Amino acid sequence: MEQNAQVYLVGAGPGDPGLMTVRGRELVEQADVLVYDRLVSPRIIAWARPDCERVYVGKTPERHTLPQHEINALLVEKAAPGRTVVRLKGGDPFVFGRGGEEAEELRAHGIPFAVVPGVTSCIAAPAYAGIPVTHRSAASSFTVVTGHEDPAKLSSSLDWEQLAHVGGTLVFLMGMKNLPIIAESLMAYGMADDTPVAVVERGTWPGQRVLTGTLDTIAADVLERGFANPSVIVVGSVVALRDELAWFNPRPLTGKTVGITRARHQVSELRSELEELGATVAEFPVSRLAEPSDPAPLAAFVAQPTPVNWVVFTSANGVKTFFRAFEAAHGASPAAASPSAHSAPSTSADPAADAGADASLTLPDAAFAGATVVAVGPATAKALAERGVRSVLTPDTFRAEGVADLLRGRLDPHERVLLVRAEDARTVVADMVRERGAELVDVPAYRTVLREDGKEALQDALRTGSLDALTFASSSAVRNTLALLDGDAGLLADVSLFSIGPLTTATMEELGLAPAGEASSSTISGLVGAVLGSLGGLS
Ligand code: SAH
Repeated sequence: MEQNAQVYLVGAGPGDPGLMTVRGRELVEQADVLVYDRLVSPRIIAWARPDCERVYVGKTPERHTLPQHEINALLVEKAAPGRTVVRLKGGDPFVFGRGGEEAEELRAHGIPFAVVPGVTSCIAAPAYAGIPVTHRSAASSFTVVTGHEDPAKLSSSLDWEQLAHVGGTLVFLMGMKNLPIIAESLMAYGMADDTPVAVVERGTWPGQRVLTGTLDTIAADVLERGFANPSVIVVGSVVALRDELAWFNPRPLTGKTVGITRARHQVSELRSELEELGATVAEFPVSRLAEPSDPAPLAAFVAQPTPVNWVVFTSANGVKTFFRAFEAAHGASPAAASPSAHSAPSTSADPAADAGADASLTLPDAAFAGATVVAVGPATAKALAERGVRSVLTPDTFRAEGVADLLRGRLDPHERVLLVRAEDARTVVADMVRERGAELVDVPAYRTVLREDGKEALQDALRTGSLDALTFASSSAVRNTLALLDGDAGLLADVSLFSIGPLTTATMEELGLAPAGEASSSTISGLVGAVLGSLGGLS
C-alpha cells in the first residue's frame, strides 16, 4: 500500500519539468533521500528540501557511474520506516528504466514501495517534434524497441525480420550508437529505403533538435549534424505528419549552453529569459551574499529608522538585505500596519516588550514616509515593489553615475540621504551627496564574497568545452570567476563572454578578457540581448 511505502520509483518525465506528474513533484518535495540519474532536469532536483540527501547515480550509455546492482543495494540500504526515499528516473520508470529490477530487489528485501509512472520519452519526444506515434491514416500501432542491444544480438535475424514487418511506427530508445546497424537491418529485411525516419534529440528540453530523413540517409545525416544522446529514433510514415504538425519550434539559442555566474538567489530571471530563447543554462554561482564587515550602521538604522528625504538603493541585493535586517530587528512586518506603528521602539524600557510591541511596524511606513525612493534600475525597483514600495524613481542610465545625475538636479543641501549599498561599491553617489553639502546616512548592507564550492564544476565545464557562452552581471562576478580558475584566463579562451555594462566590461578588460558582447542597457534583458545578438543565428 502506498501509505506505507519507503521507496518510490518515480518517473521524472522526458526533461521539461512541467511534464512531471503532480504526485511525483510532491514526493520530490517530501523526500529525505533522492536517488537520481542523468536524464533528470536539475530544476526537478532543486524542488527537494535543502536537507534532502541527494545521490547521483547517473548513467551514460558509455559509462555507468554506479553499476545497477549497486543502485539496487543503495535503495535497500537507504530505505527505513518513516523515511521517504525517492528514486527518480527519466521518463517512465518501467520503460527501459530498469525500474523493474529495482522493484524486484525491494520486494526481495520486504521493503514496501510504490511506483509513480512518468511521461515517457518514447511518446513525448515525438509529440514535441509534431509526430503522433499513431494516426488513423498512418499507423495503428507503435512498437518501442531498445537500440542498445549489442550489435551481435542486433543482427539476429529473428528480431529484425519481425521488426521490419510488424507495421505501424517503430520507436527506438538508446539507439544512437547503433543507428547505422538499425537502419541497415530494417532495410535488409524489406523495409523500403525511403521509409521516413526522425531523430528527436533532447526532446522537450529547451535545446530540442529534430532531424528527419529516410532509412537510407539518416545515419549519414546524424553524423553530419552531430546528433547524439539522448535521442529517440522514430521510423514510419507518421514522421511525415511533422511537416504539418510541428509546433515546438527551435528557438534562436537552441543547442547553445550558456553559463551564468550570478549568485544562486539571483538567477531566475536570467535563466528563464535564456531558456525562453532555447538555450540550455548552466549555473555557476561564483558569489554569495555576506554580512557587511561592519554591520553597525545597518543595525543602527533599522533598529530606529530616522526620517530621511531620500532613500537610494543601488542594487536588488541591497533591498533584500536591508529589508531582511529590518525584519530581523522587528519581526516579520505584515502588510497592514497599525496606526500606532510609528511609536519609536527603543523608547520602551523593556527590550523584550519591544519585539512584540512593534511587530506591526512596516518598513515603508517607518523609514520611507515622505521620502523619495530612488532605485538604480528596474531590477532594484522590482525588488522594492515586491516589498510594497511602489513609488520609485529610476535614472536614465542604470548605474551609479545615473543616480548621481538624478540627485544632482534635485537634492537640497539641508536634506538627508539614506544610501543603502554594497560594502565595496564605488563612491560615486556618496561623493555627490557630500559635494552638495547634504547629510549622508551611509549604510553598507552587504558584501559579495567568493563562493568556492562550484570551482570544480566550472573548471570541468570549461575544460570539456561544454559552454558556448558565459555571462557576467557584475564586476565581482568577473573577479570571482577568475579566482575560481586560479587566475587562468586562458580557460575562457574558447567561450564567448558577455558583460552587463561598461563597468563590468572594464573589469574584464583589466583582467585580460575580451567580451564578445555588452548589454545595451545595464539590465538582465540587455545581457540576454547581447548573447542573442552574438550567438542567436538559427543553425
Ligand atoms: N525511462 C525512460 C527511458 C530510459 S532509456 C523513458 O521512459 O523515457 C534512455 C533513453 O531514453 C535515451 O537513450 C533516449 O533514447 C531516450 N530519452 C530519454 N529522454 C529523452 C529525451 N528527452 N529526448 C529524446 N530521447 C530521450
